[in-house]
Amino acid sequence: MQLRYNYRMYPDAQQRVALAHAFGCARVVFNDALRTRQEAREQGLPYISDGDLSKQVITRAKATPERAWLGQVSAVILQQALADLNMAYRNFFASMVGIRKGPKVASPKFRSKKDARQAVRFTKNARFTVTESGRLRLPKIGDVPVRWSRSLPSEPSSVTVIKDSAGRYFASFVVDAADRPLPETDSEIGIDLGLTHFAVTSDGRKVSNPRILRRAARKLRKANKALSRKQNASANRAKAKLKVAKAYAKMTDTRRDWAHKLSTTLIRENQTVYVEDLAVSGLARTKLATSVHDAGWSQFTAMLEYKAARYGRHFARIDRWFPSSKLCSTCGTIATSMPLASRSWMCGCGVTHDRDINAAINILAAGQAERRNDCGARPGPGHVPAPREEAVTRRKSHVRQAGMDVNAPGLRST
Ligand SMILES: [Zn+2]
Repeated sequence: MQLRYNYRMYPDAQQRVALAHAFGCARVVFNDALRTRQEAREQGLPYISDGDLSKQVITRAKATPERAWLGQVSAVILQQALADLNMAYRNFFASMVGIRKGPKVASPKFRSKKDARQAVRFTKNARFTVTESGRLRLPKIGDVPVRWSRSLPSEPSSVTVIKDSAGRYFASFVVDAADRPLPETDSEIGIDLGLTHFAVTSDGRKVSNPRILRRAARKLRKANKALSRKQNASANRAKAKLKVAKAYAKMTDTRRDWAHKLSTTLIRENQTVYVEDLAVSGLARTKLATSVHDAGWSQFTAMLEYKAARYGRHFARIDRWFPSSKLCSTCGTIATSMPLASRSWMCGCGVTHDRDINAAINILAAGQAERRNDCGARPGPGHVPAPREEAVTRRKSHVRQAGMDVNAPGLRST
């Protein structure tokens, strides 16, 4: 399985200038290529192949006075910027014709200097190395100090250098990590993800968002409010903006660490984990949006999924719609009405249910039934690649959030 290992890095002033230049060159190649394809389309010309595009916006461009400076950075990062664009196009096409599942992928967008996240990727071809003194040697950048919070499990195939909106630098390595199956256990669990509690399990556990996360979220709201009061384009506004970015980084770091701990515990303790598929993107369009994003459900379920694959567990989303909260898990009767406010209810059969625990029990039962029906029909759990959204143009998040290792101290990067 491919995983990302992230480390904070501390480039000096000169290296920061070189990195800014590299970010800029990669962005220009990406945008030139996108514009070239868009213009071809407007003129009714055929789709430009990846190879032709590379010749046009890298090889030939370097020979022109307008783009001669592209020669000052590693050619690999330019090719990788182009690879990002090609991947974005492929995802867009696959999504359009329905090959790619999940939410619709938008067409590639131009990158901007003002994007929250700036990044360049070096592959093995670029010959990046770790020096004896433990610095990361990057071509045409230099030997950059890195805080190695843990050791790399194997030789990385690539490293992405990221600058986030809080002004922090990260080295994100892609490495092959071996599967580590855990001894089998009998226990299976259903999880109901919700708003009142982050998660409620079929064995009766209720997990709330931790106080530390709520505090981080509150700080972010405060910083946002302060920002909205600042004048446009003033120095104070820039300062307030950085404050928001820092508060945001703090909150997402806290949330990720916490989600790692919870998902690891659940995967360790259970052989099978079932989660109701919330169709988060559907919910996100309603007014529940903020809560949905705060809760970080999709991040959490993605962690459950890849950890299950890595540790020899089974994970499934229950995608069949069923009234998990209204169905009595004891007798199977469906309650006719149930206001969202009522946390417990009594069924005609005489059993009083906690609304959320009852739902989790139903999710477990539905998962088990689905799996029994499936037995023999499928060759077992399929290959689950670590999320590699990095190749999919730019993102809103600051640091790669999924696809990281279980105990990821390197991610606690403040
Ligand atoms: Zn009942």
